[in-house]
Amino acid sequence: MVASRHVLRDIFSVLNTPSAARDLVSLLESHIHEKCPQVDVFVGLESRGFLFGLPLSTSFFKPFIPIRKKGKLPGKTKEVSFKLEYGEDVFEIQAESIKPGQCVVILDDLLATGGSLKAANELVSSMGGTVGLNLVCIELKDLQGRNNITSPVQSVLQL
Ligand code: 5GP
Repeated sequence: MVASRHVLRDIFSVLNTPSAARDLVSLLESHIHEKCPQVDVFVGLESRGFLFGLPLSTSFFKPFIPIRKKGKLPGKTKEVSFKLEYGEDVFEIQAESIKPGQCVVILDDLLATGGSLKAANELVSSMGGTVGLNLVCIELKDLQGRNNITSPVQSVLQL
């Protein structure tokens, strides 16, 4: 039995206020300008990473590539299994969606144990890409998830 942290952090309470959503996306944008201006591709993690990956990819005029749970992407895929805070899952990315040498920014709403971002990093690396930045809105500091990730991590809000 795993102890539950009980509080589910909710990003939608920011997105339902247009000025707050716009400010959040601008903050994410400024972190990319500062930490990874050479970005070639944006990768969003299912599902809330999509909410931020797409607007950023259009703003930087770069491709948006989804990482999804197993069985949801068409065509040939690469997959990786990973541990969640309370269980296990499998991520997939479309084969050849990232070219060797490309610099990737990975987006998600929240960093907890770091298992999801670590798995996404493995997928990107297996295709020859380099993760220039892992960017999240919320980081749960006590769980120390960033220690599981070897590429740079930036969060907007630390709780
Ligand atoms: P990790 O893999 O770092 O343990 O967990 C992060 C993933 O789980 C993210 O994809 C995130 O969307 C989801 N997640 C875990 N806990 C929460 C939470 O409290 N609030 C939200 N919004 N997402 C969470």
